[in-house]
Amino acid sequence: MLEKDTICVHPTRCPHPIHGSITTPIFQAATFVHESVEKESEYSYSRVQNPTRAVLEARVAELENGVDAVAFASGMAAETALMNIFESSGHIIAGDDLYGGSLRLFRYVSSPAGLRFDFTDTTNLENIRAKLRPDTKAVYVETPSNPTMQVTDIAAAAKVAHAAGALLIVDNTFLSPLFQRPLDLGADIVVHSGTKYLGGHNDTLAGFLVTKKPELAEKLRFYAKTVGACLAPFDCFLVERGIKTLAVRLEKQAANAEKIAHWLRERPEVRKVYYIGFPDHPGYEVTKRQCSGFGGMISLEVNTPETAKKILREVRLFQYAESLGGVDSLITYPMLQTHADVPEEERLKRGINDRFLRISVGIENAADLIEDLRAALEK
Ligand SMILES: *Cc1c(COP(=O)(O)O)cnc(C)c1O
Repeated sequence: MLEKDTICVHPTRCPHPIHGSITTPIFQAATFVHESVEKESEYSYSRVQNPTRAVLEARVAELENGVDAVAFASGMAAETALMNIFESSGHIIAGDDLYGGSLRLFRYVSSPAGLRFDFTDTTNLENIRAKLRPDTKAVYVETPSNPTMQVTDIAAAAKVAHAAGALLIVDNTFLSPLFQRPLDLGADIVVHSGTKYLGGHNDTLAGFLVTKKPELAEKLRFYAKTVGACLAPFDCFLVERGIKTLAVRLEKQAANAEKIAHWLRERPEVRKVYYIGFPDHPGYEVTKRQCSGFGGMISLEVNTPETAKKILREVRLFQYAESLGGVDSLITYPMLQTHADVPEEERLKRGINDRFLRISVGIENAADLIEDLRAALEK
């Protein structure tokens, strides 16, 4: 079997492009003409499927070792479609350190629609076990989590969920299938914000749901075509192009992040660095077992709110912007951005205070990035 960095460039499952084109053509069509009353064409209507999207989905499915991947207009569109499979009833146990948008969806959209959620620290499996109920339909984890980089043991969480008849859903946005493949570890559904590492250039939104179970794939496709938040052909083209360089980007981002994390840790202004590649990270053993890289994400707590603001104000290469996973290095202030809608008490309990920053390391030169941070800190 080919390695995943090869699959990024040469997927084996994709239908071959027409006219020998080395790139997938953008089929900018809403509808497709049927051959005859007796014979429908392979494609009928682009909400249901589009040839450009089919190629991208096959590529993502192969990278995650799934049977199928469904592409959506954003990560949140994917998660919203996913919630439909529970048909407005039942109980979901979710991590308590999720992407802020996921928390907002679960709390303010899915809960009023009838689903019941319990949020807990999923790094401790006992917490999951303690929350299980007869009507628990799924356990939803993000690992490493956003933004405090907590690691959940996917294989162990899958066992706990399955023993209770529930699905395990894993948001794999932070590491991508290059560094972590939850389906191989027992997860049932993988969620991606393709906006991040898969797209990789901060130029398009995208989302994916991937599964290795044909019956789940059928359900996901049904809700995708019905809800209609599908990824447009041009955006499919951009994400496919992004995936071709996923392996080289991620390798550089991970190498840069490792250097920056170690450097930050030595700075007197920095109180705590959250990075899964530190041997003293509580999830390090699990990470070594279930991941093949540490990724490009770092969070940190500095000494004062003034230092946090100074960094955001003074950096020149790092840019103060939301999102992550792209070629450009970005810094965010989760308190004001991704986690602005999380109740303050909860946010503070998790350490997301006014001294907390999150860094997405890009592909620039590591020494230049470190110098940028040093100059900002010493300003
Ligand atoms: C960004 C993100 C999402 C949401 O994806 P969008 O593409 O922004 O809708 C979900 N989960 C994680 C971990 C993310 O970082």
